[in-house]
Amino acid sequence: MHCELWAILHSSSEHPIVKHALITGGAGFIGSYLAEMLIARDYRVTVVDDESTGAVENLATVRDHFNFSFVHGTVADKTLVRHLVSDVDEVYHLAAAVGVQLIQTAPIHTIETNIYPTELILNELLRRKRDGYAVKLFLASSSEVYGKNPKPLWCEDDDLVFGPTTRPRWSYGASKAIDEFLALAYWRQHRLPIVIGRFFNVVGPRQTGRYGMVLPRFVEAALAGRPLTVHDDGHQVRCFAHVLDVVHSVIELMETDSATAGVFNIGSDQPVSILQLAKSVIAAVNPNLEIVFQSYAEAYDHDFEDVRSRIPDLSRLRRTIHFRPAFELEAIIRDVVDQTIARLRRA
Ligand code: UDP
Repeated sequence: MHCELWAILHSSSEHPIVKHALITGGAGFIGSYLAEMLIARDYRVTVVDDESTGAVENLATVRDHFNFSFVHGTVADKTLVRHLVSDVDEVYHLAAAVGVQLIQTAPIHTIETNIYPTELILNELLRRKRDGYAVKLFLASSSEVYGKNPKPLWCEDDDLVFGPTTRPRWSYGASKAIDEFLALAYWRQHRLPIVIGRFFNVVGPRQTGRYGMVLPRFVEAALAGRPLTVHDDGHQVRCFAHVLDVVHSVIELMETDSATAGVFNIGSDQPVSILQLAKSVIAAVNPNLEIVFQSYAEAYDHDFEDVRSRIPDLSRLRRTIHFRPAFELEAIIRDVVDQTIARLRRA
C-alpha cells in the first residue's frame, strides 16, 4: 500500500505511523545494523543490495520480520531505483565500494560504483519531489574526502587535500566528494532534503577482514594463533567507533530538522596508533602472539599512499544531536573478539 494512504488510514487509530525506509547496500556491515535499528523503531525497511561485498546472512535477525523486505539488485539499475523510491519516506544510501585494498586493485569499479548510483537516486528523488513528496536522503560519505589533510583534527569545512591522480587511493575520496557536491547541489537548486555523514573508521562484529580492514584482520589472526601484521612503523593513527554508536547517530541526524543540508563527521574522536591497537588485541586474545611489520608496498602496491593521522572534530555532531557513544576501544575489541569466536563456533 502506498505510504501516504497508509498514514491517513491509520492516523486516527492506536497504531503508530510507520515510515518506510530504503537502505541501499543494506546487506553490508553498517547497513545491516541500520536495518535492525530501524526495524526496532517500527520502521518498514526495504534493503537493496547486489551482494557484491555484503551478504544476506548479515540480515538474519530481520529477514523474516513482517516489516522487512530484501531486494537483490544493483542501484545502478535505473528502472529498479525508480521502483524502489516510489513509495519510501527516507533513503539511506550506503551502497559503495569498500576498503582501500579494493580501491587499489579495482579503481574503475570504485569510481563508477560511488558516483553513478548517487546521481540516479538524487534524480529519482527529485522526480518524487516534483510529484509533491519530499523524501529525505542520508548520504553515507567518508573521512577519505579529507584526503591527507595535515591538520590534527578534521572539521567539516576543511579543505580537501588529495594526492595525485596517478595514485588510485585518492579516487575513493574524490568520488565521495563528488557525491557530496551533487547532494548539496540538489538541496541548493531544488531544496531536496539531504543529510551527509562522513564515516570515520567504523568497526564491530560482522565486519570482514576480506577488504583489508585492520581490526577484523587483527582479531582473525589472533584467534588463529598467527602473528598480527602491522603496516609500516605502526605509528599511523585512527579513531575506531562501534557500528552501533555510528548507526544511532545516523538515525538521530535524520530525525533532526536542523541537520538537513548539513555535512557531519561521524565516528570516534579517541585516537590510537595501529601498533597500540595490535597490542590491545594481543592483550585481549593471547599475550604470547607476535607482531610482524610489513611495508605498504608489500601490503598494497608500490604506489600506495597512507593517511598518517585521521581524527575527527565532532563538535558539529555534538551540537546537533545527543551524541553519547556507548563503546570505548577496549569494549569494542572485546565485542569483536567475542562475536568472532561465536561465529567461528557456528561455522
Ligand atoms: N593496517 C595494518 N594491518 C592490516 C590492515 C591494515 O597495519 O592488516 C593499517 C593500514 O595500513 C592503515 C590502518 O591499518 O594504516 C587502517 O587501515 P584500514 O584499511 O582498516 O582503514 P583506513 O583507515 O586505511 O581506511
